[in-house]
Amino acid sequence: MRINAITNWAYGVTVLLTGLSGAAFILSTDSAIKERQAVEQHLVLDTLGEELALGAETRSDEARLYVMRGDERHLEAFHRAEEEERRREEATKTATNLGATPAEIAALQDIVREAEALDKVEVAAIDAYQKGDRAGAQVRLFGPEHERLQTALLETVARFRDLTNVRTGAALNEAQERSDWYAAAAKTMLGITAALFLSVLYFILKRRVAMPLTRMSGIVTRLAEQDYAVEVPLDRRSDEIGEMNKAIHIFRENGLERDRLDAERRLDQQTKDLILQMMHRLQACQSQDELAEVVARFAPQVFPNLAGHLYVLNDSRTLLSRVGTWLDPQHSAPTFPSSACWGLRRGRPHVSNRGHSDIACQHLDDEGVIGLCVPLTAQGDTIGLLYFEERSEEEFAVEASRLYLELIAENIGLAVANLQLREKLTNLAVRDALTGLLNRRCLDEALNRQPRGQAGKPLSCLMIDIDHFKRFNDEFGHDAGDVVMQYVAQIIVDTVGDAGSAYRFGGEEFTVLMPDAGEAEGFELAERLRMRIGTTPLSHRGRILGTVSVSVGVASAPDDGPVATLLTRADAALLDAKNHGRNRSVRASGLVFGDDEVQRSLA
Ligand code: GH3
Ligand code: MG
Ligand code: MG
Repeated sequence: MRINAITNWAYGVTVLLTGLSGAAFILSTDSAIKERQAVEQHLVLDTLGEELALGAETRSDEARLYVMRGDERHLEAFHRAEEEERRREEATKTATNLGATPAEIAALQDIVREAEALDKVEVAAIDAYQKGDRAGAQVRLFGPEHERLQTALLETVARFRDLTNVRTGAALNEAQERSDWYAAAAKTMLGITAALFLSVLYFILKRRVAMPLTRMSGIVTRLAEQDYAVEVPLDRRSDEIGEMNKAIHIFRENGLERDRLDAERRLDQQTKDLILQMMHRLQACQSQDELAEVVARFAPQVFPNLAGHLYVLNDSRTLLSRVGTWLDPQHSAPTFPSSACWGLRRGRPHVSNRGHSDIACQHLDDEGVIGLCVPLTAQGDTIGLLYFEERSEEEFAVEASRLYLELIAENIGLAVANLQLREKLTNLAVRDALTGLLNRRCLDEALNRQPRGQAGKPLSCLMIDIDHFKRFNDEFGHDAGDVVMQYVAQIIVDTVGDAGSAYRFGGEEFTVLMPDAGEAEGFELAERLRMRIGTTPLSHRGRILGTVSVSVGVASAPDDGPVATLLTRADAALLDAKNHGRNRSVRASGLVFGDDEVQRSLA
């Protein structure tokens, strides 16, 4: 019940009880008035009876004194008492007005009658006295008749007074009882009103208001301090406190929701910041390895619930190879044909969800897994794949982060494409298009980077020239000549391996630089090269081309000369090899250089 309703009810009942108790007080007062009236009536009637008796007695006395003494004053006094007759006449009226009962009125009339009978005797006695019959007068006044009449009068007066006493006593008692009863009722109702008022006050103020308010003020204080962890007990009362409780509940729910949204927004901002950082670093990557490392470092920070792989398509766009991985994904193969991925086939992100409605990619194993394949594209070309896999305990992370995943994939795709483009451009700038070897400019730069003077580390140089290549061209055509050049270049690259770098010097001439190698090691490599090239049979479009031989000049620095003359000395050794019949290796250290030759090379 609402506090307002309780208050209204309590107010109504209090007003009613107060009204009733007021009425009881009024009735009690009324009864008291009646009580007083009964007392007054009693007194009046009592006095009335007494006065009638006294009047009769006074007249008898005066009559007797007159008859005894013959004093006229007593006769006058006897006659003066004639008023008594009028009083007797009045007495009945007064008694009737005062509500005397018929019995009382009858008694009063008896008194009047007996007093009149007494009067008659006394008047007769005075008459007799005045006529000189003194003895007869005395007999009449003191005789038994007068005595009887007087006694009867006194008895009737006593009876009348008894009757009035009984009646007015009963009325008095009744009025008194009624007055007492009303007074008690008024007091009881006042008591009940006070008790009701106090209990309502206690119930409403203490139980329904003060206690819940105290409880809620603590809660409100904590909520004001944004401590939404505070428990708000649900008070299902339908009163104002219940409504307040409901409002506090809603306030807390709103606070929690706002906190949750804030946390979401913060997390979202954090994710965006991380993605932005990742993008900046992706743009600054100079190699695919660096790019893979950036992705593997940032992806788990942005999506802690998603493991993943970064795949790149090979040049022929048939095979995907893993170049980066994070958080140990379990279900996707490290390499697979591009046709095994529905994402690549459709050219759009694909969610593989075994056990659900959609088809799963073939590069995933058979276990139930939720995986997302996002093709990496740039300018319409597919260049790789970003694969995300939900870690078993976290479901639906893929769907929740889908937009960001696609954004990241787009940026990684662009970064990979940029790198590949840059690599192509770099290759165009530093590599020879026919053989894929580094070009002459690179050779010059490599030599320029070498420390000058005797303190530098050893460096060997091989100058390689295909023997009688012109004839080859002439005999089999320029295309065949190109193929031979590619074969020879490939053999040089394979043979040199990590020991050094191979360059196309120009035409059918190649150069090899071997850091940390002396002339002997250079010569040994030159011989191995010459042997391999000389023993590899060549063919082109089904035609046997036979074998080619090479001549090699070997020089080294700094022991046998400075880096600045390294190429010249190697070239001179090559020339010497040519001059001595080709298909051989010659050491520059075995040659004698004239001063002018060295000066010319240094110029
Ligand atoms: P030698 O044994 O003295 O080195 O004789 P050679 O014929 O190899 O040397 P020469 O300098 O007379 O001829 C080199 C030839 O190599 C001339 C040129 O047509 C040919 N040549 C240079 N560059 C290329 C190329 O890129 N492709 C082809 N097919 N031939 C080339
Ligand atoms: Mg040549
Ligand atoms: Mg040649």
